[in-house]
Amino acid sequence: MFDYLIVGAGFAGSVLAERLANGSDKKVLICDKRPHIAGNAFDYYNDEGILIHKYGPHIFHTNSKDVFDYLGKFTEWREYQHRVLANVDGMQVPMPINLDTINKLYGLNLTAFEVEDFFKKVAEPCENIRTSEDVVVSKVGRELYEKFFKNYTRKQWGLDPSELDASVTSRVPTRTNRDDRYFTDVYQAMPKHGYTRMFEKMLDHPNIKIMLNTDYREIMHEIPYRDMIYTGPVDSFFNYEYGKLPYRSLEFRHETHDTEQFQNAPVVNYPNDQPYTRITEFKYLTGQEHKKTSIVYEYPQAEGDPYYPIPRRENAEIYAKYKALADARKDVHFVGRLATYKYYNMDQIVAQALTEYGKIVGMKRKEATLYKAPTEKMTLPMRVLSKVNANGKMAATNAG
Ligand code: FAD
Ligand code: UDP
Repeated sequence: MFDYLIVGAGFAGSVLAERLANGSDKKVLICDKRPHIAGNAFDYYNDEGILIHKYGPHIFHTNSKDVFDYLGKFTEWREYQHRVLANVDGMQVPMPINLDTINKLYGLNLTAFEVEDFFKKVAEPCENIRTSEDVVVSKVGRELYEKFFKNYTRKQWGLDPSELDASVTSRVPTRTNRDDRYFTDVYQAMPKHGYTRMFEKMLDHPNIKIMLNTDYREIMHEIPYRDMIYTGPVDSFFNYEYGKLPYRSLEFRHETHDTEQFQNAPVVNYPNDQPYTRITEFKYLTGQEHKKTSIVYEYPQAEGDPYYPIPRRENAEIYAKYKALADARKDVHFVGRLATYKYYNMDQIVAQALTEYGKIVGMKRKEATLYKAPTEKMTLPMRVLSKVNANGKMAATNAG
């Protein structure tokens, strides 16, 4: 009898498996329909011996010390600050848009103060910022919006920015200084030996059994368990009772080139002229030295594996109905990006999973992160233990 059947061995499922096994001495079966652990963060050495991310670039960044310290129990870190160039007007310029982006794009020599005035002049004031178009146009005006955001977003989501929640393009800031880092979080680092290795350590516990290539529906009636933790798509769990929740998919084209370096930045975005959104060169992310280099192109798709929940009102309304069904299922915990239909980064999913574990054991997240259940022996009062030692057996009446 397992205490938990966990569906999905990505961040949500693996963090909960680790906490329940290691923190609470529960017996856990974790299954994934894919042939590997680590979910979308899965990385591996390709035929050329280069460490690549199968499902596109995964860069770890967080402001949460709890999350960073928690994952740090399973990996060493390699400091890494991510940088992105955007291919616009035949040039490659820093993205997010900053002082250097504007100077290079328009052949100017503005200072940080002057670029602030520049943005004020071109920005279109917007009283009520609702959509992903509003966010950008109200900050940098229509021309920059069209060069950097409009087509990228249409390609990535199959929707115009005016049809998407403000939260989508709000992920990318605008800067008046020369900071060209993609993220400004306090902790920015990559697992030194890769994500998969980190997951292997997380799941390495005698109470955790792993079944790969296994859809939970194949085993849920065969293997006894008490509760389920479900991290797959929520609409699929309920057999699409309220219709399909839209998820955006991607096709990845991996290539290895016989050259040490392919491009001038870890990621180059192609907002306008290509069918793909971006190209990532993995050696920048991993720090690996190799005489060849591996890259990946991302082609957004409507159909295929679900990768991105699509943040817009219509979808939130459908999700709210599924959430009501999910909340009513006391025997199933819904956790993760697909199960809670949230456009969350890895650190947010780890935080969500730790919070869920906290709820299960009745503790605040921080305590739950550190919590390790005492072993059975330690929970017994000392006098009982000495009785056991003396007599060689334990009488229930002595339990005190
Ligand atoms: P997943 O990793 O999707 O895991 C869910 C697992 O459930 C999957 O392995 C799936 O196979 C399994 N599953 C589903 N249905 C079933 C079933 N019926 N039976 C058995 N198993 C099932 N985040 C960042 O912080 N930084 C980044 O740079 C970043 N880049 C990203 C780039 C791309 C292209 C994508 C798509 C995402 C990126 N993310 C990034 C987000 C990150 O991938 C997610 O936040 C994180 O992986 C979510 O973890 P999860 O466990 O919720 O889901
Ligand atoms: N975006 C854009 N142009 C860019 C980069 C991002 O229009 O050069 C928009 C686009 O809608 C994208 C969103 O901002 O989906 C969030 O970008 P992010 O890089 O965070 O996307 P992710 O890494 O999650 O795919």
